[in-house]
Amino acid sequence: MVEDKSQTLLKVEEKYFPPQSIVESAWIKDYESLYKESIKDREGFWAKVAEELHWFKKWEKVLEWNYPYAKWFVGAKTNITYNCLDRHVKNGKRNKVAYISIDEDNNERKITYGELLELVNRIANGLKSLGVKKGDRVSIYMPNTIEAVACMLACARIGAIHSVVFAGFSEGALRLRIDDAKAKVVITASYTKRRGKKIDLLATVQRAIDGLEFVEKVVVWDRDKDVLNGESKLFVSLDELIKKSSPHCEPEAMDAEDPLYILYTSGTTGKPKGVLHTTGGYMVGTYYTTKVVFDIKEDDIYWCTADIGWVTGHSYIVYGPLAVGTTSLIVEGAPDYPDPGRWWSYVEKYRVNIFYTAPTAIRMFMKYGEEWPAKYDLSSLRILGSVGEPINPEAWHWYFKNIGREKCVIVDTWWQTETGMHMITTIPSYPTKPGKSGKPFFTIEALVVDKNGNVLPPNTIGNLVIKTPWPSMLRTCWGEPERYEKYWNTIPGYYLTGDLASYDEEGYIMILGRADDVLNVAGHRIGTMEVESALVDYPAVAEAAVIGKPHEIKGESIKAFVILKKGYEPSEKLVEEIKHHVRQVLGPIAVPDEIEFVEKLPKTRSGKIMRRVLKAQELGLPVGDISTLED
Ligand code: ATP
Ligand code: MG
Repeated sequence: MVEDKSQTLLKVEEKYFPPQSIVESAWIKDYESLYKESIKDREGFWAKVAEELHWFKKWEKVLEWNYPYAKWFVGAKTNITYNCLDRHVKNGKRNKVAYISIDEDNNERKITYGELLELVNRIANGLKSLGVKKGDRVSIYMPNTIEAVACMLACARIGAIHSVVFAGFSEGALRLRIDDAKAKVVITASYTKRRGKKIDLLATVQRAIDGLEFVEKVVVWDRDKDVLNGESKLFVSLDELIKKSSPHCEPEAMDAEDPLYILYTSGTTGKPKGVLHTTGGYMVGTYYTTKVVFDIKEDDIYWCTADIGWVTGHSYIVYGPLAVGTTSLIVEGAPDYPDPGRWWSYVEKYRVNIFYTAPTAIRMFMKYGEEWPAKYDLSSLRILGSVGEPINPEAWHWYFKNIGREKCVIVDTWWQTETGMHMITTIPSYPTKPGKSGKPFFTIEALVVDKNGNVLPPNTIGNLVIKTPWPSMLRTCWGEPERYEKYWNTIPGYYLTGDLASYDEEGYIMILGRADDVLNVAGHRIGTMEVESALVDYPAVAEAAVIGKPHEIKGESIKAFVILKKGYEPSEKLVEEIKHHVRQVLGPIAVPDEIEFVEKLPKTRSGKIMRRVLKAQELGLPVGDISTLED
């Protein structure tokens, strides 16, 4: 057996302190002491947060932990839509804008909290008229619009479980998800637009449900009033439902542990898991993280660029921001269409204060060049967020300089579909280190352990685990309880995240990649993120992905797939220069044996690099589940 040399190679020494003005006005000014307090009394901490929200009936017990099954706010009754809508309407915010929705043709629509409440109630009553009841599943295959949000909330209003499927998925992936959830109703739109092209969503739904007898109705948002004509047993017009239904609908009194939604993971590492989230704990966790991680104030304009089809959209476009009562942008279409200035023009026009996006988008904008954001006034920005993948230091600095103009705080939020809410990040009043996600959120104990559960010393690579339950954790995998239990039983005593990490002497956690993708070169465990960061750090390199290949002597050798920036041509000389650069940054052990220049990398629809696909292709092995592969 090879000796395990698991030191991290990438040294990130820089530390950025937040501007004094941000610290002074922050909801939480002293992370350290509140964190300590929160660890001493987890349940007390979350109970205090929960008091900020409305409950029809209070809990008898904050947590019931029956390893590995947790119940939060036991015995409590609430409805998440009451907290997202009615609560604000009753508190003088009826006329506050909830969403500014923008489509690809720059058409803008605004909806206030009062209007959204009525819209949600009408759809909720409409769903009831179609026979949808508490506990029934409703699949939602909709573009990133107010209507989609309203349909999600309408389900929650009456206690139906929504299962949102990203509208970029093709019929196979959609069918699987509708079938898995046994959805009684599917809600869709006639089309969405991407890069100027209409994408026919309804046709995809029609093919996807062919032969699925349990689907009783398909509700269609007929955007141009040109697809639904005449009577149909199956198809129902969303506009008609809205028109004929009452704007009053009593919120269903949901038990804190009643299911809220099913959502499938991105499928980066294998077959997607149908994660089940419940009502009370999820509401409390998303509410509080949205409030304090983005440090949202009453007049802020907030924009999360994700799609409602992902958990980031669920927690940080829909439930968290609405529970906080903020004004959000919701944008349909491609980030770089009609040109790479699109997003920055919205930041300027709407004076966005908080902007939350993914490293894959940042790297794309880096390729287009800094002249695009430079054209716009981005001075309203205060907080920038990142999520989805490790943000390599190079991208961090680009984001900080070109979008944040060196005046913003970056929060690098690590979390998962399964965790429901942010788990590791720095909060805005706390110093950040580029390339490191940061510190565990309040009450969260995030540890780095070996395969037997022993906590590893600092700067050592190991499994990232979470020690104790948190309110918005997944409760099970839909129809696959054994898959749920695996998270907690693989390293007994811990929730296994599947990611590799290390922490430094100050407790900052760095995410090094997926445990499945770990490189093992001559006994050294190297995170994919370390080598990819060193590659992207080289001026000619726009994006990179690395895999390990079996090697007779070293155990594994590294192969890198590299996308060059505009204006660079592949050459042997460049290969040598890149290798030299990695040697300088990380040392000889991390230098790729092979570098292949490519035009594209296989990514999930949510923008994550699928290294397992590269590896399978390289080694001539079966690629496994690729239902979530882009293109
Ligand atoms: P699957 O579980 O099906 O393989 P997935 O893990 O990509 O897919 P998600 O739940 O969408 O599905 O993504 C969560 C993962 O994304 C995390 O486990 C982590 O690998 C990565 N991630 C998210 N945010 C960050 C971040 N800020 N830094 C580093 N990695 C992150
Ligand atoms: Mg995962």
